[in-house]
Amino acid sequence: MSPLFSVLIFIGLAPWVSAEPIKVASLSTVLSDIARNVGGDRVEVSEIIKPGSDPHLYEPTPGDIKKISSVQIVLASGLGFEPYLDKLRSSVEKSGVEFVVAGSAVKPIACAEEDHHDHSHSHDAADPHWWHSIANVEAVTLQLRDAFIAVDPDGRSDFQANARAFEDKLKVLAKWTRLQLAVLPKSQRILVTSHDALGYFARDYGFQVLPVQGISTSDQPSSQKVRNLIQEIKSLGVKAIFAENIENPKVLQQITVETGANLGGTLYADGLGIGDAGTYIGMMRSNVTTIVEALQ
Ligand SMILES: [Zn+2]
Repeated sequence: MSPLFSVLIFIGLAPWVSAEPIKVASLSTVLSDIARNVGGDRVEVSEIIKPGSDPHLYEPTPGDIKKISSVQIVLASGLGFEPYLDKLRSSVEKSGVEFVVAGSAVKPIACAEEDHHDHSHSHDAADPHWWHSIANVEAVTLQLRDAFIAVDPDGRSDFQANARAFEDKLKVLAKWTRLQLAVLPKSQRILVTSHDALGYFARDYGFQVLPVQGISTSDQPSSQKVRNLIQEIKSLGVKAIFAENIENPKVLQQITVETGANLGGTLYADGLGIGDAGTYIGMMRSNVTTIVEALQ
């Protein structure tokens, strides 16, 4: 047998070369995408939360809990985005599942709390929609890289190379985003959205957010709040207000009628969509394009 032939047989038959992928369950469509980018073939991601579903209204089913108990790593957003997280953690952690919580890798900002009449309410609650800042996604990329290395040390160089490649793409995205938004003067950087999801984006790019609902899609606005918002939209001369891909309050239509503002298109507020918006980068590009086209 020629030496070359034996080398080929060796590679083909060596089962220990290809390890089993790390099993990951993800409670966030954004985290699923980051995990696939960083993990490549060495990670198998089960999407517990599917694109296009409302994560604010999700509750784990018995089937989901069973699936989550069988993985090595669970990915969660944290910062209160999953109100069921502590309960879920205590019911599956005994099976050796590790929770990686993105919120612990980013610097949270506070919710734009508007219920000033309610002083018993915590005013320093964190905004859980961390992924609308590209810098946060970079931080979480490194967090997932390190979590994967801890479980699969043989994959270290793969995870490092994948994370670097994804960081490079995020840097291109960040540059592109700044260039696109440059056409909008400061006075036009106002985002009237269905719910209060774009706080991190607003901070990064100098926008003011005027949400119809609160931090969750389940927060319904009072009629007083809607009246105030209509006044504010009129006095600021806001050109367009934005719908979301998943859920919209009924008053959105009423607000466009009463203010004369256009419906500016659909934003991805709570995670990824399908098609072009099915990746983090595609979703951000879609949001930025929609915002610039509606407000310029
Ligand atoms: Zn949300």
